[in-house]
Amino acid sequence: RYPVICIDGPSGAGKGTVTWRLAQVLGYQLLDSGALYRIVGLKAFEAGLITADASHLIDESAVLALTKSLEIAFLPNNDSGRVDIIVNGQAVGDQVRNETVGGYASQIAVFPTVRQALLTLQQDMATRSGLVADGRDMGTVVFPDADVKVYLTASAEARAERRVTQLVNAGQAADFDSILATIKERDDRDENRSTAPSKPAADALLLDSSMLDADAVYEQVKRHCQD
Ligand code: C5P
Repeated sequence: RYPVICIDGPSGAGKGTVTWRLAQVLGYQLLDSGALYRIVGLKAFEAGLITADASHLIDESAVLALTKSLEIAFLPNNDSGRVDIIVNGQAVGDQVRNETVGGYASQIAVFPTVRQALLTLQQDMATRSGLVADGRDMGTVVFPDADVKVYLTASAEARAERRVTQLVNAGQAADFDSILATIKERDDRDENRSTAPSKPAADALLLDSSMLDADAVYEQVKRHCQD
């Protein structure tokens, strides 16, 4: 088996930046497991199985059938170091990246059967090359024997602040209070679901990035990898 580094934690804690840098420096592939849940969430929304406000009970078996109907493959992209996710023959681009789709993802991510259907796909990644895996349950469920586990977190306020800055820099409108509320709602769903809740593995390094910049986070994680 190839080495596996797991970086788990809530969105906005800085996982994306640190996983990207580690993958580049080590020459490993990067697994963005959140994109899988985002794809299923988006398709479930398009099929009318979930609503944006999470207001109706979801039919787990229908979401599972939809998940199984998607032909999902990972394609290592040697230019970016990323693993491109291919759904029904098409690379999934940035259309799954927004907060709305993040909300859809967390609605369908509560279902054990859906998580199970996505499990082997993720585990197979580690049979091809070294891997930096980004998610919620990488260290607890998907790669319990991983070589390095980090749970990167930050206060909801710090994460909302970062999101506001990102949006403002992109020339978009941003309302701190509504962003904070959305973040807390998604955290709550991810941390309190019964299957594979977002939580640190017993052997994970806990790192709070509220007061750290991206360079400091990277340095600490890198040092932990060398230990
Ligand atoms: O990390 P990202 O924000 O892309 O994840 C979107 C959603 O997908 C999360 O809020 C969570 O509900 C779900 N997810 C998960 N397990 C993972 C990765 C993501 O349940 N390993």
